[in-house]
Amino acid sequence: MAAKCAIFLDKDGTLIPDIPYNADPERVRLEEHVGQTLAMLAPHFELIVISNQSGLAFGYFNEGELKMVEKRIKMLLHHYGVSLSGFYYCPHHPDGNKAPYARPCDCRKPAPGLINRAALEHHISLSGSWMIGDILNDVQAGKAAGCSTILINNGNETEWDMADHPQRIPDFMASDFAAAGEFILNSLKYEKYIGAISAIPGELQEQKNSSHRRPDTGPLYSG
Ligand SMILES: [Mg+2]
Ligand SMILES: [Zn+2]
Repeated sequence: MAAKCAIFLDKDGTLIPDIPYNADPERVRLEEHVGQTLAMLAPHFELIVISNQSGLAFGYFNEGELKMVEKRIKMLLHHYGVSLSGFYYCPHHPDGNKAPYARPCDCRKPAPGLINRAALEHHISLSGSWMIGDILNDVQAGKAAGCSTILINNGNETEWDMADHPQRIPDFMASDFAAAGEFILNSLKYEKYIGAISAIPGELQEQKNSSHRRPDTGPLYSG
């Protein structure tokens, strides 16, 4: 059986419109196509949010308020029959003013710490997993963890700092969330196809080499 794979999802600007440091659940809406697209991906992948929440380190909101936002997102996704397997966030920032979050860390994207932790806790194979985000820091975190990556090019990335940073080059640039989902679903079909044709020679080889093969077992290859 194939290992479990995940789609790691950035929150602000990817799942929901980016309202900086918003912790009011009433203002949380899903981005266009997110619900329908995740419903198509959910049978194939664990869905796990990976989010920088430096608002905690700056004291703009507390963990209880963030929990309400998480609940709201889960409720909105529930309308589409989609459930998240995990909701991971980095509460840190080196310039913050709230102990214990005001410090450097290895989980703030572009670092891959949160993705690695989620993968360990959910037994996820990273090489078959994806990170979807709206800025290149998401791409870099995903690539550093060993995932394939998609940038949703919706205007939120403005610096395009990619030179000398191969990890910041996404595998695919999508115009919106639906295009990202379509790309992943097509990749699954392609993998299945490649898997099917590469399995044929191996199977023939196995039969040819088998010392237990009786002469009356019919043709080597019967469709
Ligand atoms: Mg974002
Ligand atoms: Zn952190």
